[in-house]
Formats: sequence, structure tokens, C-alpha cells
Amino acid sequence: MNDQQNKHDAAEVVVLGGGAVGTAVAYYLARAGRNVALVELGEFPWGSSKRCDGHAVTYDSPPGYFSRLCKAGLDLFPEVAADLDVDFDFEPEGVGLLIDDERDLETARASIEGKRAEGIEVQFWDRAELRRREPGVADDVLACLNFASDAKLNPMRLAFGLARRAGAYGARLMPRTRVTGIETRDGAVAAVLTDRGRIASPVVIDACGVWAPLIGQMVGLTIPIRPRQGQILVSEKLRGLASQSYAEYGYLAAKGGRKRNGVTADMEAYGVALVAEPTEAGTVLFGSSRRYVGLDTSSHPGVLRAMAQRARRFFPRLAEARIIRCYAGLRPATPDGKPIISPTPVPGFFVAAGHEGNGIGLSLITGKLVAELLGGGPTSVDLAPLRLERFLEPPHAA
Ligand SMILES: Cc1cc2nc3c(=O)[nH]c(=O)nc-3n(C[C@H](O)[C@H](O)[C@H](O)COP(=O)(O)OP(=O)(O)OC[C@H]3O[C@@H](n4cnc5c(N)ncnc54)[C@H](O)[C@@H]3O)c2cc1C
Repeated sequence: MNDQQNKHDAAEVVVLGGGAVGTAVAYYLARAGRNVALVELGEFPWGSSKRCDGHAVTYDSPPGYFSRLCKAGLDLFPEVAADLDVDFDFEPEGVGLLIDDERDLETARASIEGKRAEGIEVQFWDRAELRRREPGVADDVLACLNFASDAKLNPMRLAFGLARRAGAYGARLMPRTRVTGIETRDGAVAAVLTDRGRIASPVVIDACGVWAPLIGQMVGLTIPIRPRQGQILVSEKLRGLASQSYAEYGYLAAKGGRKRNGVTADMEAYGVALVAEPTEAGTVLFGSSRRYVGLDTSSHPGVLRAMAQRARRFFPRLAEARIIRCYAGLRPATPDGKPIISPTPVPGFFVAAGHEGNGIGLSLITGKLVAELLGGGPTSVDLAPLRLERFLEPPHAA
């Protein structure tokens, strides 16, 4: 039987990976009328998108290309939320950056205009304003830079809803299916091989997050993505602890190499910084940590202890709270911290992976950009800074 005879064994595009990114890509392609198959070895979602926080934010980058990309990503959520028949708890209620070091006050203030020029809503709350809004924050925190439109959402429901809607638009959903190989003909993609059979297709999108390099190897490509582990603590229900999400400003400043006040050697070694996200259920998710430990997703007592200490520094009431659960996930990290949304030297093989700590917030814009890329027209965001070539050695770079 040839490819045309059984339409179920052929697709115009096969998307590999059913996390937030892969489901968003499948959703936008199916919505554009493409004949698309979405292959995932587990359920929707199964990998990093099932083990993370749910922030879609603009706060964590200085003004510039990446900040604008995050803003473009955030802006897509309301429209997609209205289109899905799964409520993924999208709440653009704001994320505040807590400032506890005098040295950060001026830099924080100075960053406001640049972000506002990008259409991002930023407010500066002085100590009195912060105290009035959030009595649960430690008294010695000096100020807060509030990103009023940054959002939180439930990433599992997002990916599930995107897959479901993609299916309604005609995508063929293939959960519990492992990609085992990619067949090429004359150097170009010809088919995806799975443990449930072969799907003939001239186009493959590798959206496998930290596993994207393994898929790349199937066509001889080196995709420089490393798993960067992050741990999360979940508290008991703590209504009233915080009215919205918070992170610490000092961590952004510390990326420049400066030591933060009150940070222990363990916190430094484990890349610990406060992130607090109150959930719809009333529990609060506390992070974060950053470590390169391969594909290990086990919880580490030393990291959890350091994270709890850091969270207590900003929210003293936590000293009396109980932790009910903890888990770890893997950020797909590239060498420059930006994702890869790109064609490759292998005709028909595209990459949409490597979103590090922003894969939920950037999921929709990635899906939209891939659909535009395959449509052949101009993309709504310049993709040059996200091309795989930036990491490739010549002759591929040429
Ligand atoms: C602690 C923590 C907190 C985070 N918080 C946030 C946050 O608040 N906001 C944010 O934007 N991001 C956050 N992130 C980052 C976010 O989790 C990732 O960027 C995002 O989940 C990546 O999505 P993805 O779809 O690329 O990868 P994944 O969700 O990992 O999806 C890839 C899929 O590929 C599948 N796969 C792999 N190999 C195969 C194969 N051979 N065949 C078939 N399928 C295969 C896997 O099963 C997996 O489901 C956080 C990460 C961590 C660890």
C-alpha cells in the first residue's frame, strides 16, 4: 500500500511531543486547516509541561527582543482561552518582583520606561503601598515592581485543552505513541516511525522539549538543549498569604554576578530564588531552583530546604505552614536561554523547543509562528534570533 492509499498513515505535518509547545503547534496548524498528526509517548501533557509552574510573564527579561516575544505570547492567551472548551484558569492578575536590596531600587526604577515602551504594564509600589496590598510580605522588603498584566494559568489544562481543540479542528491525536525513527529520502524528511507504525509526511516538527536532541539525532542533527532541573514545593491551603504571584527581583540582578543579601551557599549552589504562585485551589506553589542533573526528576532535600528558607524570608507566615507535596521538572535550556523555532539543514525537519523557564508563556506564540513559518509568508515576529543555525558549526551555519 502506498502513502496515498491509507490517509491515516500519512499527514501533511507530524508534530512530535505533546507538551504545551507541541499541542500549541498542532492547535495552530489544525486551525489553519493543515492535515496534522500529534504524536506523544504519554498523555497530553506528559513531560516538563506537567511538572512546572504556570506563569506567562514579561517580568523576567530586560527590554528587548525576548521581552517583546514574551509580550506577544502573553497577548494570545485571552483569544485562545475563548476558543478552547477547557478552562485553563488563565488569570492576568499580575506578578510582582519583590525588592529587598537598596542597590536594586534605582535599577528597578530605571527599567520601567523601557518595558512600558513595549506596551508592558509596570507599576512601582513603595514600601507603604506594598504593605497595604500584601500584609503577608516581610516588613523589611523595600518595594515591588509589579507587572500588572502578567498571568498565571494551569499548564496541564492548557496543553490538554489545546490538544483537544486541535482534535476538534481535525488533527489526528496519537497519545501513548513513541517516535522511534525518522525516515529520509534524498536527505529530506519522508516519514515518522513509531511503535504504532509509520506515518508518511514531508514535514516534522520536533517539539520534544528536553528530548528534542534525541529526535534530532534521528536525522543527524545536533540540537543543543540540556535539561535544567527545577523543584517545586506545594503548601497546604493558605488563603490570604498573597493576593497574586511574586518573585524576587534580586535574582534577576544576580544573573549579572552580584551576590544577593541573605543568600546561603546552598541557595547559591542550587540556583534558588523565590517564586510564589497561589493556585485556584488555595495551595501555593513555591520555587525555584536551577541545576543541571541530567534527566533526574527526583526531589532533593537540600534543595527543598533552601527553597523553603528563601520563601520564608519573603513570607514569614510560612514558618507555620505545612508542605503537602513536592516535585521536580526539567527546563529545556539552550546555551543562550532563547528557544529554537526554526527550519534546519534537513529539508522538512523543524525545531520548536528549548524554551527553558518560559515554555508555558511562549507556547502559543510558538504555535502561531510555526504555522506562519510553514505557511511560507512573513512571520509576525522576526525568527532570525531563534534559528538553529546560531549554534551550528559551518558548513551548516552557512
Ligand atoms: C520547576 C519548573 C517551573 C517552571 N515554571 C514555568 C512557568 O511558570 N512558566 C513557563 O512559561 N515555563 C515554566 N517552566 C518551563 C516549562 O515547564 C517548559 O519550558 C515547558 O514545559 C516546555 O514545554 P515543551 O512542550 O517544550 O516540553 P514538554 O512538556 O516536555 O513536552 C515534550 C514532550 O515530548 C514527548 N516525547 C519525548 N520523546 C518522545 C518520543 N520519542 N516520542 C513521542 N513523544 C516524545 C514527552 O513525553 C513530552 O511530553 C518551568 C519549568 C520547571 C522545571
